[in-house]
Amino acid sequence: MQGTVSPEAIIDNGIMAIDTATCLHCGACVGACPPNSIFLNEVLITFDDSCTQCGLCVKTCPVGAIDFPRGHKRSELR
Ligand code: SF4
Ligand code: SF4
Repeated sequence: MQGTVSPEAIIDNGIMAIDTATCLHCGACVGACPPNSIFLNEVLITFDDSCTQCGLCVKTCPVGAIDFPRGHKRSELR
C-alpha cells in the first residue's frame, strides 16, 4: 500500500531509526550531525553511540527517513 513502510526497511539500533526504503543517500543528515554520529555508504546508513538525539538529522532529512526509535527519544522509552 502506498504510504506505508515495510518493517523490514527500518533499521533501529536503539539510538535512531532509519527507513532504508525511503532514504535517498543524499548525505544531508551526515553534514547536519554535530558529533558526526552518522555514517553513510552506498548501501547502509548507521549511527554510533556518540549520537545525542538532538534531532537535527530528523529535521534535516528531506524525505523523513530518520526518526527516533519508535518515534521517541531514549529518555522517553520505558
Ligand atoms: S540526532 Fe543529532 S546527534 Fe544523533 S544522529 Fe541525528 S543529528 Fe546526529
Ligand atoms: S538526509 Fe535523509 S535521505 Fe538523506 S541520507 Fe540522510 S536519511 Fe537518507
